[in-house]
Amino acid sequence: MPDQGLTTDLAVRLRGLRKSFGNVHAVTGVDLDIADGEFFAMLGPSGSGKTTVLRMIAGFESPSDGAVELGGRDVTRLAPFERDVNTVFQDYALFPHMSVQENVEYGLRVKRVAKHERRERAMEALKSVRLEGFGGRRPAQLSGGQRQRVALARALVNRPRVLLLDEPLGALDLKLREEMQVELKAIQREVGITFLFVTHDQEEALTMSDRVAVFNEGRIEQVGTPAEIYERPATAFVAAFVGTSNLISGPAAQVVLGKQGTFSVRPEKLRVVAADGGQGADLTPDEHSAAGTVSEVVYAGPATRFVVDLDAGGRLIALQQNLEVSSMDVMAMRGNRVRLVWHRRHEFAIETA
Ligand code: ADP
Ligand code: MG
Repeated sequence: MPDQGLTTDLAVRLRGLRKSFGNVHAVTGVDLDIADGEFFAMLGPSGSGKTTVLRMIAGFESPSDGAVELGGRDVTRLAPFERDVNTVFQDYALFPHMSVQENVEYGLRVKRVAKHERRERAMEALKSVRLEGFGGRRPAQLSGGQRQRVALARALVNRPRVLLLDEPLGALDLKLREEMQVELKAIQREVGITFLFVTHDQEEALTMSDRVAVFNEGRIEQVGTPAEIYERPATAFVAAFVGTSNLISGPAAQVVLGKQGTFSVRPEKLRVVAADGGQGADLTPDEHSAAGTVSEVVYAGPATRFVVDLDAGGRLIALQQNLEVSSMDVMAMRGNRVRLVWHRRHEFAIETA
């Protein structure tokens, strides 16, 4: 893996981490450095080993090989309660018979923290998740988003160095999830604790995180900022999992780009122009283009997706904003001959396995 260029203190360091369950190789060698105060996402499809990595950091699972360091200390052999981390689970795991306040205080009570300090810290934690005044309610009297924030307060009250979140927004509907993405980010900024969260949702990872690690089959394919992951995917897997891959490869790469290899251009970087020249069809020396036929048109309100079968082979998807056109205009383009144009800096080579 390339040098991750971190100069600040490390909250989490994973070295050669592996985990097998019988002959299932859940995690097959993970190295990762996470800085203090980062909002870090582990993104990948179901079964790629994200939860298992999180559980090894928390101490619920012991590695088959490798090491976990927290704040520079090797904790690989320590029990969960000896580690400066807390976990927020997807199902929240709130106690239904306790009030919100009691739920948040619970961890402190177990640690025998004095009553008035417990109360104060719980109120502070509830305030940080914007649930002041909800302490007297039962979990059943809250909305899904509010229950999620109680679960967050219950972890924050312990003031861990690292907060681990496993698909924290997975149980919420889309609208609420989008609101909570913004909220969670704001809360993290305020409390300043390192957040390490797991998600299979690429948009969620790109929206909230300072950096993202993309998981595939128990390994990390790429680590980077959301822009790096999206604009410069290192592998075909990342290009396909994060966004639309839009590959140009084989003979098509030779014809269209004049070079060998596999390349990708994101759909919103492509401009659709008429094949017979006309307006917008003149290329600058910095541009590449490919001729093809529109095989599919998907009108989606603010934008339209054009599926274009290239004359040179393969197909590309182009996303165009509907600035001055209507659905009628764009739908009529199915079957049209077009030329796709893009700036060379938006095409990038990707590794193929
Ligand atoms: P993710 O969180 O990315 O969906 P997991 O870490 O939960 O993936 O699982 C990775 C792989 O390990 C999967 O194939 C899963 O079935 C397997 N696995 C996870 N936990 C166990 C377990 N306790 N026993 C056996 N197999 C497991
Ligand atoms: Mg999981």
